Amino acid sequence: MKQRALINAGLSFAGWVAVVGLWPSAASAQEASPSPTPTPTPALYSAQTLSELKQIQQAALKSDYGYKQVAHLCNNIGPRLTGSVQAQKAVDYVAGELKAIGLEVQLEKVTVPHWVRGEETAALVEFPGMAENTTQKIVLCALGLSVATPAEGLTADVVVIRDFDELEALGKEKVSGKIVLFNYHFDKQMAAQSRAGDAYGQAVKYRSEGPSAAGRLGAVAALIRSVGGADYRLPHTGATDYKKDLPKIPAGAVTAEDADLIATLVPQGNVRMRLVLTPQTLPDAPSFNVIGDVKGTEHPEQIVVISGHLDSWDLGTGAIDDGAGVAASMDAANVIQKLHFRPKRTIRVIAWMNEENGLMGGKTYAKDHEKEIANHFGVMETDGGAGHPLGINYATKPEGRAFFEPVAKILQSSGAGILQLAEHPGADIGPLTKLGVPGFSPIQDNRTYFNYHHTAADTLDKIVPKELAENAAVVAVTAYALANLEAPLPR
Ligand SMILES: [Zn+2]
Repeated sequence: MKQRALINAGLSFAGWVAVVGLWPSAASAQEASPSPTPTPTPALYSAQTLSELKQIQQAALKSDYGYKQVAHLCNNIGPRLTGSVQAQKAVDYVAGELKAIGLEVQLEKVTVPHWVRGEETAALVEFPGMAENTTQKIVLCALGLSVATPAEGLTADVVVIRDFDELEALGKEKVSGKIVLFNYHFDKQMAAQSRAGDAYGQAVKYRSEGPSAAGRLGAVAALIRSVGGADYRLPHTGATDYKKDLPKIPAGAVTAEDADLIATLVPQGNVRMRLVLTPQTLPDAPSFNVIGDVKGTEHPEQIVVISGHLDSWDLGTGAIDDGAGVAASMDAANVIQKLHFRPKRTIRVIAWMNEENGLMGGKTYAKDHEKEIANHFGVMETDGGAGHPLGINYATKPEGRAFFEPVAKILQSSGAGILQLAEHPGADIGPLTKLGVPGFSPIQDNRTYFNYHHTAADTLDKIVPKELAENAAVVAVTAYALANLEAPLPR
């Protein structure tokens, strides 16, 4: 439920998949191979489609088009925070590129929040053992959508708690007038076990709900321990989600190291912090989802979406989150175009706007296309980085699995043959999957994804070109399979 709430608020990383059951093991990999029961394959895909799928896979694995796209987005355009001039530049760029490969391109208007980062500094100005006239620097960043402190900052005592229960136990008396630090640890062991999405899900609720919970008890600011898997003294940003009727207090993320520092000092005596956060919330701004269609030959009105989100956080250049997802989707379309294969249904590339701090792209699309929901045959999103793909997450009725076994067999040759039932295959496609549209995403190796996620280190070098191409292959094969499937999916 918390996961659904997060996705509704557009606060999740879209590739975070709530997996039903365990992460794929050798046993489930096995299940991906053709089942021993009579297979419905011939009725699902024509021999020609199966042959084309293999050719698409091979061509995508060799393609460097996607890497060139993400390189341009990151290096030539840069961070693409919603409402920024770079976000608009990225819209124009992707639209131009999709036109250049022969897609029918449209920009669909989305009204987006426009939040701008300001100054963000903090220091401990009083703490046990301090030398006179010194401070301890605290490395932090504002959370997306945070309100500001006064321009000169605020100074208050710090209380440290681990979770919401500890906050409640302190109560109003001990929280009022203080800066609250939620020191909830990201479970690195869980991430190492390929359950990074679950580890993220546990910790990120303090980012989304912590500031309002602290504000309710009279805190003057709320800080969280960064939600991330590696400790390089990097703060991890991400949107917070103020509750409507509660006081909005400035909100930031401190590095894991600085959270540890504060947590060590507080039991020794009084710790006081000066905090300066000066972000601004400007009036909502016009922006766009970029849409490019490869028109279907038999059922052009039926749509298979492949997508990633074009906006990114501003600290890094949005390579793994989510230039990679946009690039893999563009690459998939390019491969199909270059092979001159004609899908029976329309394959629609979407570069979503505003996944990170509002989800307005996904919400607006679902609303604008309300009457065509039944014609959305399947929707896919890639938003878990660019790590080696292991297979396909499918959010359909469980019996949908049989439809993808022939596809998994093809993908298994690049190690991507696992089929896994998932609840939430992506944030931007969430408004559509909630209405019953079958959803898909690549299963990606995300063991190191949260080391860089939402930090200044989300840069192009984190993408391995070969692995990005492997993702493009999964997207292209899944999209073309859906587009040419001979039977409707259970929904
Ligand atoms: Zn993302």
